[in-house]
Amino acid sequence: MKVKVDERGYYGNFGGAYIPEMLYPNIEELRDNYERIMAEPDFQEQFQSLLKDFVGRPTPLYKAERLSEKYGAKIYLKREDLCHTGAHKVNNTIGQILMAQRLGKKKIIAETGAGQHGVATATVCALMGVECIVYMGAVDIERQKPNVERMRILGAEVRAAESGSKTLKDATNEAMRHWINNPTDTHYIIGSVVGPHPYPEMVARFQSVISEEIKKQLQEQEGQTNPDYVIACVGGGSNAAGAFYHYYDDEDVQLVAVEAAGKGNHTGESAATTVLGKPGVLHGSRTLLMQTEDGQVVEPYSISAGLDYPGIGPVHAHLYETGRAKFYSVTDEEAMKSGIQLSRLEGIIPAIETAHAFAALNQMSFKPEDIVVINLSGRGDKDLETYIKWGKY
Ligand SMILES: *Cc1c(COP(=O)(O)O)cnc(C)c1O
Repeated sequence: MKVKVDERGYYGNFGGAYIPEMLYPNIEELRDNYERIMAEPDFQEQFQSLLKDFVGRPTPLYKAERLSEKYGAKIYLKREDLCHTGAHKVNNTIGQILMAQRLGKKKIIAETGAGQHGVATATVCALMGVECIVYMGAVDIERQKPNVERMRILGAEVRAAESGSKTLKDATNEAMRHWINNPTDTHYIIGSVVGPHPYPEMVARFQSVISEEIKKQLQEQEGQTNPDYVIACVGGGSNAAGAFYHYYDDEDVQLVAVEAAGKGNHTGESAATTVLGKPGVLHGSRTLLMQTEDGQVVEPYSISAGLDYPGIGPVHAHLYETGRAKFYSVTDEEAMKSGIQLSRLEGIIPAIETAHAFAALNQMSFKPEDIVVINLSGRGDKDLETYIKWGKY
């Protein structure tokens, strides 16, 4: 099965660009230029050089011996937690700041929920000496003080979104409004494989370095490029898309996506979009999203801020609909236990988003010769307070 975006930005039944008319020029400019720019040798050279020397790539593919023993398979961890800033998000922001420069944009805007994407954006703006405005819900600004201060230290301006529920979707609206009013000098850096075409595909291409490296590293360590399973957590879906990208057409590789079930899928406090969602339009693309009967977006819930999103990227909706990827969902409790387990077995405290991917191991069964790659999307330093509050360790 081919997982390929078409000219209109669709993956099967999902994708496209559902945007207000005022945004057409911005989106068209990006759509008409991004592939050409990405293919330029000069772009690739600068991108690869920053991934190597600024981000610290390639990240290791580490054979987790004690975890392997516990689950009875050969488990490898792709160490995105070792990227500069502590997660995979910076792969994309590096790519987009270089894209913005090639498009002649002098200013950057972004929106952020918990602040992780805001920090990754503020980081690359500081690196390039570019003005950066990050929109963030007023409620989130209160809840995420350390990330707000990180962004400010890096020189970004954090602007509060005071409308609606004062969270991520309101910040997104404000960022969109800003972009409409400043179309010529500003680029909008979206942080996951979501938004109108060409964002989902562009972000996936920047993150695809993850599976590119896995193929090489597995060849060196196991004498084959393909594992039996690739497992990743899904918020919007960018780390999963990056880990799956070069395996889409390799049917011998089972792709496994893990969503957050919060307090349980039937408690009204979950973020498991494939379980609870229906097709609709969210943030400019047709995808699966959690909504009421009359199409109002439902507030999602997860203990992990990065998975607390009411939809998934259109490519994941397609992977789900076609069965190319298998989807699991994992509760707060299950994720937290797996986070502690990984800390004890391997000496790695994962981000709580990432801990969801590890908890899926408990719902799967393996043969001893199976090779399993888990994308370790981020480190747990940012989640220390949540671990402490949870307390059971
Ligand atoms: C933001 C984040 C996620 C979720 O975002 P995706 O776009 O689904 O990858 C997962 N893990 C970590 C560590 C994050 O910071």
